[in-house]
Amino acid sequence: MPSETSLEATCRDCGRPLSFHAGETQPARCAECFDGFMRARDIEFLTSYAELGVTSRRIVAETCLRALVTESPPVRKVLAMNIMEQYVQAAGDLVGLVRALRERSNQPIMRAFLGFKLDRASALAFFQELASKPPSDLLASLGLPMPDEIGRSFRSLSKGDARDLKKAMVQMLGDLRRTGEMGEGVALALAQASTEARSGAAITKQSVWLDDVGLKPNQVASIGIDEQRRTINITAISVDEKRLQNIVSVIGAMTHISGTLIYATLTAHQESERSRRITRST
Ligand SMILES: [Zn+2]
Repeated sequence: MPSETSLEATCRDCGRPLSFHAGETQPARCAECFDGFMRARDIEFLTSYAELGVTSRRIVAETCLRALVTESPPVRKVLAMNIMEQYVQAAGDLVGLVRALRERSNQPIMRAFLGFKLDRASALAFFQELASKPPSDLLASLGLPMPDEIGRSFRSLSKGDARDLKKAMVQMLGDLRRTGEMGEGVALALAQASTEARSGAAITKQSVWLDDVGLKPNQVASIGIDEQRRTINITAISVDEKRLQNIVSVIGAMTHISGTLIYATLTAHQESERSRRITRST
């Protein structure tokens, strides 16, 4: 049996022998070196993500919203559904980032973040946490101080830098509140839709052929298969400019939260690097 044949390769980083089976992909490194490779780049990864990637959902959603105003009804439906998808993606980015930052002592940030998938359970848990716990708990779970404690926690920051960070974090607390107020309903419904394979393309302007309810003229829905319940899920939304504007603004809020959490985390990292250097040199 060719698949039973064991082959040998060596780890690119430590040179240890690695065995794999014929027909399998040859690994580049051993598991430990791969973790180390990612960990060594976690700070760079966060910096790079904060510079560009974090804004991508907001940029796409804002562009869709601008285009929606002038488009014909069928195109407006496609754009509206895309805005909702950006909302789910932005929520997934934020929930995944919080989780990755919390778990960073157990696994590389890059792996936890890039591997994260928003589902009903994680969306529900996150929005319930926002609604039921004070923001200081969320920050503490990430090893971050409240805005008023920045001076004491990050002693090596200049007055100006401390002021900038404090301002960003105060704004972030407002954004967290707004995101929580948006509620779990939308996130839940769309977390469901986002896990469905053809989400984005599987949309319809009329669902009467699938259910008895049907859609109103200004509605659009995504279609997904629920194999467990053996049913078809129809997630409908209304193409209502005011509501979509509100959603785009919450996408902006989530983007700001992610950006500020990274900013604060990088600051905390620099602070601990500095104090380690000082301890070493004394
Ligand atoms: Zn290795």
